[in-house]
Amino acid sequence: MTAPRIEIDLGKLKYNASALVGWLGERGISVTGVTKASLGSPDIARVMLGAGIQSIGDSRLANIARMRRERIDASFALTRSPMLSEVGEVVRCADISFNTELEVISALAASARVAERRHGVVLMVEMGDLREGLMPADLSRAARAVIGSPNLYLQGIGCNLACYGGVIPDAEKMAELSELAESLEQELGLKLNMVSGGNSANLDWAFGATDHGRINNLRLGESILLGRETLNRQAIEGLHTDAFSVVAEIIESKIKPSQPSGRIAQSAFGVLPEARAPGEARRCILALGRQDCDPDGLTPPSGIEILGASSDHLIIESQGEALEVGCEIAFQPDYSALLRAMTSAYVTRVLLPG
Ligand SMILES: *Cc1c(COP(=O)(O)O)cnc(C)c1O
Repeated sequence: MTAPRIEIDLGKLKYNASALVGWLGERGISVTGVTKASLGSPDIARVMLGAGIQSIGDSRLANIARMRRERIDASFALTRSPMLSEVGEVVRCADISFNTELEVISALAASARVAERRHGVVLMVEMGDLREGLMPADLSRAARAVIGSPNLYLQGIGCNLACYGGVIPDAEKMAELSELAESLEQELGLKLNMVSGGNSANLDWAFGATDHGRINNLRLGESILLGRETLNRQAIEGLHTDAFSVVAEIIESKIKPSQPSGRIAQSAFGVLPEARAPGEARRCILALGRQDCDPDGLTPPSGIEILGASSDHLIIESQGEALEVGCEIAFQPDYSALLRAMTSAYVTRVLLPG
């Protein structure tokens, strides 16, 4: 088989998605399945929909367009604020988009009028993490702008925590978002369809809280794909953490000194290897580099240690068996390694059917 490749176990993904949909459904929370780490993979979107997820979220319009072309039948949400230069495409491709800028909202309204479509807007609120969001004081003005546009409707509000500032989506933050939803509804005399509390970092709160207030949606990527919550990257009990493996092939296998020899300056990526005990060791080079994957996000099988990587080479040391040229080694990717592997033109995707 070709290498490097990423093997995707669709059965495990479906299991993860179904479990999360079930557990959150009991708590009155719907799931938007986030596909951005998979380059908007239509196969993964299909699996999510088969598991009971009804809406698909992606940060990239190109990914949503791809899933539409592949006839994925779902409601699509653009989860990154639209660029002003893409609003025309946004209203044609996405059913809803997440927004924070009045200028973009009015451009969406104009484009939706031209396209003769109705486009849903979720207003994102800044709640301390300092990535996207309207300041709470500006929320009602933005909501009025949406409602006042005949081709837009206010789908709801949302927030995003633990992404930039590492702020924990705890009971207090979620209660704040619930209160914002309620006061907005009272002020405007309407009911919001969606109050979207956050991402895979919200699962501790969602499973632990007795009162979920008005939060009725979470947008989940990593927890479905890798079976982990994202505050501490702990495995979620009952989910698969190994639905993806990155497989690479050995192109050199030799006993070499464990320390470089010669005068030392920078390495290709500015990081020098850690000092190692003197002696010799079995070192192998795999045809996998930073253009294919994030080597810092790979977990090797036991008995193998990753020493470093350049653009095209991953260097490992094997404590156990002598690994031969041509052998393949499978690694478990974290989110960063997954994202890079799935979006690299050099890495083949191999689907293992569910
Ligand atoms: C990526 C993203 C998500 C999904 O985050 P995960 O941690 O993968 O669950 C949710 N919401 C927004 C706005 C995102 O950009």
